[in-house]
Amino acid sequence: MQVPAYVEYEKASSIEHALALLARYGPESRILAGGHSLIPMMKLRLAQPETLIDINGLSELSYIRVDRAELCIGALTRHAQLLDDPLAGQHFVVLRDAEQVIADPVVRNWGTVGGSLCQADPSEDLSAAFAALKATMVIRHPGGTRTVPAREFFTGPYETVVAPGELLAEIRITIRPGGGSAYQKVGRRAGDWPVGAAGVALWLAGGDGARRDGAGRDGAGRDGAGRDGAGPGVIADAGVGLTAVGAEHFAAAEAEEFLRGAPATPETFARAGQIAAEHCRPVTDQRGPADYKQHLAGELTTRALHRALHRALGG
Ligand SMILES: Cc1cc2nc3c(=O)[nH]c(=O)nc-3n(C[C@H](O)[C@H](O)[C@H](O)COP(=O)(O)OP(=O)(O)OC[C@H]3O[C@@H](n4cnc5c(N)ncnc54)[C@H](O)[C@@H]3O)c2cc1C
Repeated sequence: MQVPAYVEYEKASSIEHALALLARYGPESRILAGGHSLIPMMKLRLAQPETLIDINGLSELSYIRVDRAELCIGALTRHAQLLDDPLAGQHFVVLRDAEQVIADPVVRNWGTVGGSLCQADPSEDLSAAFAALKATMVIRHPGGTRTVPAREFFTGPYETVVAPGELLAEIRITIRPGGGSAYQKVGRRAGDWPVGAAGVALWLAGGDGARRDGAGRDGAGRDGAGRDGAGPGVIADAGVGLTAVGAEHFAAAEAEEFLRGAPATPETFARAGQIAAEHCRPVTDQRGPADYKQHLAGELTTRALHRALHRALGG
């Protein structure tokens, strides 16, 4: 069946209006953003909302800006906007990396950041990228606003903490000095969903001095030379996000714990990859066998760490 069931349609004129419509139509109403997940699900009758509340006209939900040392991304920001945005690219290049490999230009021109996150597909690329960045989700409800860490946003496959009557309004990421980030994905073909993917963010001890002074490679050509080139830099904090490989909350918490305080060396990165692989629980499906996905989780984590370090050091 490729035709959706009958559905009422309302066009919201403001966030308050969208919230009022959600309250009026109740739990069987759904927000319509880009429609690239919801409409196919309605065609297949996997979703049968009674009312669609279209938020596409809400420019107040479409922006990328820096506010008080945070990058703020409106939920209605299209994938294509995030891909091209200089601020996002400057502060968190992992987002640009991820957007480059999400679907195709048609999907990226319509699909939204908020729609991707609220869809909560277990293979969503942005879920891993925002988990790595330890982002915060801002949820609007009729009484005001609440915030939820990215890692508490997803309650299961296709489920989030966004309750009936609420909408995701914004994603915030704290800008910290000494950071570098990267995203690595393997898909079956260009623009396809990931077989496995890893997003990584690293913050080096010493803040932005690491970026200004770091040589990026030591005398032997290894990644990880510190500021004076004499030894490896120390990892002050790390975020590792994984998608499509059954990682809890789209994150590799045990690998992050191992990285914190460790020297930024190839040995550290290899071990962090092993830990990430050990703790994820992929399933065999049409995209690949579980053991291959587990291997990918480790390998892609290690590769992303190398690239993130290179960038943290100004490369
Ligand atoms: C051909 C194709 C290829 C794709 N490839 C990839 C890929 O490689 N990687 C990847 O990660 N994704 C991929 N996608 C998914 C795509 O990124 C998402 O479908 C899309 O971005 C979802 O956003 P949307 O705005 O279209 O959401 P919609 O379809 O409009 O909504 C999705 C769900 O989120 C809810 N929702 C939307 N916005 C809000 C909000 N602000 N607050 C509360 N609820 C909200 C809706 O009610 C609905 O339940 C692909 C999709 C297609 C069609």
